[in-house]
Amino acid sequence: MTQKEIQEIKGILSEPKKISIIHHKNADGDAIGSSMALNSYLNICGHKSNVISPNKFPEFLKWLDNKNQIIIFNNSSQATKLINDSDMIFTLDFNSLDRCGDMKDLISKSKAIKILIDHHENPKKYANYTYSDTKISSTCEMIYNFIGKLGDNDKINSSIAEAIYTGIMTDTGSFRFSSTSSITHKVISDLLEKGANKSKIHNEIYDNNRIEKIKLLSFALSKIEIMPDYNTAFISLSQKELNKFDFRKGDTEGIVNYGLSIRKIKFAAIFIEDIKENITKISFRSKGNFDVNKFSRDIFNGGGHKNASGAISRDSLSSTIINFKNALKKYKSDLN
Ligand code: 5GP
Ligand code: MN
Repeated sequence: MTQKEIQEIKGILSEPKKISIIHHKNADGDAIGSSMALNSYLNICGHKSNVISPNKFPEFLKWLDNKNQIIIFNNSSQATKLINDSDMIFTLDFNSLDRCGDMKDLISKSKAIKILIDHHENPKKYANYTYSDTKISSTCEMIYNFIGKLGDNDKINSSIAEAIYTGIMTDTGSFRFSSTSSITHKVISDLLEKGANKSKIHNEIYDNNRIEKIKLLSFALSKIEIMPDYNTAFISLSQKELNKFDFRKGDTEGIVNYGLSIRKIKFAAIFIEDIKENITKISFRSKGNFDVNKFSRDIFNGGGHKNASGAISRDSLSSTIINFKNALKKYKSDLN
């Protein structure tokens, strides 16, 4: 984003605006954190801003929305009206309108000024202003930069700081992925100075589990399959299995990473059956040079980042796994 564009956005925001903030389907810590941080900032500045989420978001993020302000789209007339009446729409943490579910058409038809802020590769050109940087750890870190570029770093209060901290922490695997830069740590340092309570955030996100979720994790780990020829580990969970553990959205988040904690494993995957949506949700993670963004795009029409990607398969759980195993053969040399 150029200095000229920043000045233009500053000009637009110099008068009160009606603003919608949206993020991707199946929101994660970065999507909710960046949306809530930007929403609080814009409201402090005197705008009428709302966050609209394409679908339900996980329980462990509810504390970021303690006033219950996030609107779930659900094709509701309230959300549709808010989007249609918006002067501006911010789209956060995704690179293509396909990622915001049923809101896609409304957003693309809207005459509002659109601003994309995101760190995924290959952003589509649908916005009037695009702030895209794939080297930055998280959309939350970009929101921190964005507020700073507008000259408002001092408007970041403790609750905005905690929302931003959350997305950086979750998207960097608690500051360990290669996307964590020295600048990320400088941002974190400033957020702590602004009053973010790191122990509280960690506790809300990681130490706030339902027992069923932990039992599901234990079950999932007992099913892990290793493919030694490919340094690959994967887990699959059928809807029937999930139901046994009173499955809720978000319960499987992070399970895929356990595959990578096994010695020699470079590539980990999880396949999750969703009977209601008639899909298999896939997550990929890797270590080092194996590019799971490319793998996901080439094999399952998905995407993401080099070391963390995902996709939706319209095939059954078992056929998806067969496709996956067949695809591994093509990547054998990359995995060794
Ligand atoms: P997760 O495995 O946590 O759902 O997603 C990991 C990364 O892959 C995220 O950056 C996410 O944006 C991306 N991703 C997940 N699912 C999809 C998908 O269906 N399509 C695309 N293009 N990217 C995805
Ligand atoms: Mn993100």
